[in-house]
Amino acid sequence: MTGTPGSQSALRAANEQRLLDALARAGACTQAQLSRSTGLSAATVSNIVRHLAATGVVDLASTVSSGRRAQSVTLGRRAGLVAGLDFGSSHVRVAVAARSREVLAEREVAVPARAPVEAGIRTACTLLDELLAAVGADRADLVGLGVGVPAPVDAATGRVGPGSTLPDWVGAPLTQLLSRHVDVPAWVDNDANLGALAEQAGGAAAGVADAIYIQLAGAIGAGLVLDGRLFRGSGGTAGEIGHTTVDEHGPVCRCGNRGCLETVAATPVVLRLLRPTHGDLAVDDVVRLAAAGDVPCRRVVEDVGRQLGTAVANLVNLLNPRVVVVGGDWAPLGDLLLDPVRATVRRNAVPSAAGFVRVVPSALGRRAQVLGALALVLAQTAGATPGAQDPTHDRP
Ligand SMILES: [Zn+2]
Repeated sequence: MTGTPGSQSALRAANEQRLLDALARAGACTQAQLSRSTGLSAATVSNIVRHLAATGVVDLASTVSSGRRAQSVTLGRRAGLVAGLDFGSSHVRVAVAARSREVLAEREVAVPARAPVEAGIRTACTLLDELLAAVGADRADLVGLGVGVPAPVDAATGRVGPGSTLPDWVGAPLTQLLSRHVDVPAWVDNDANLGALAEQAGGAAAGVADAIYIQLAGAIGAGLVLDGRLFRGSGGTAGEIGHTTVDEHGPVCRCGNRGCLETVAATPVVLRLLRPTHGDLAVDDVVRLAAAGDVPCRRVVEDVGRQLGTAVANLVNLLNPRVVVVGGDWAPLGDLLLDPVRATVRRNAVPSAAGFVRVVPSALGRRAQVLGALALVLAQTAGATPGAQDPTHDRP
């Protein structure tokens, strides 16, 4: 190699960064895989890995690759941490992960329904500090935040769009508000989109190129993975399945339309339907009672399944997905909810598309959104180092 020592060290730093970027994109790699993905020679990869392992930037572990023992390389704690924040209409869930994708700590707390945006952010930050402390880290170790909200997110500005079940949050510049509390880049997306990302990365739609994730909660939304990529639409509102019409003369919806899926299948509507016979029930009560054979609970769940099936049949006709994953409040009902969905899809969708699709429950449950937030930030911070700030971080 020719050149001054300065250019050699610059080359070494550039090679190191290439290797770190490849690790951030792929998670765990063997040295042979790193050599292929970076184009660096095996000897160069081996030298860099030895140096980075000695300084704690990467961790090494024994693994078996193609039937042979090999060393797996992952980003270590010194490469920084990421956090996922999931804001729901009555909960905040936070997770802290290493850049190897290992979740180190995770917790959810209940918040008052429709809490204002500042209160929600303060709760999330307190939780984040507690989790960081529990793993022996602090905010200086973070390289980025992934954030989920129950609302469309404006693609151009990163602001919370209209139609949220958290009215105070509409129009809020969430990335800016968060940066007042935690000085690292943040990426915000809709909660159903994050559920889709997580289920496709390592859940019920793992490895499936065309998959739909449906979030059943206070609001109902869908995340669409098409051809292996999340499809957000031109303004970030793709997948608003909760506002498809299932009853032309049904109740007036908060969107101004009548008989939207949300007016018959959103969680508060379901609980309200059961109030005359059962009083005030929580979601868990309905799940337990329906599983035990309670007739009114089963009837209401079946009706939700049929109405959801009508909307899903339209999506199946339009998009021809391989898998539809149902997540959110009613996913623990399993086949009690999904059999009526499947029957309605078989009846209403064109047979070729209906025969192709599997309707399955979420594999990640209440963790789907926060794991999707981690997947989002991990994808966006591939080249980041702890303490380095990126001012252009509004949107993925
Ligand atoms: Zn509506």
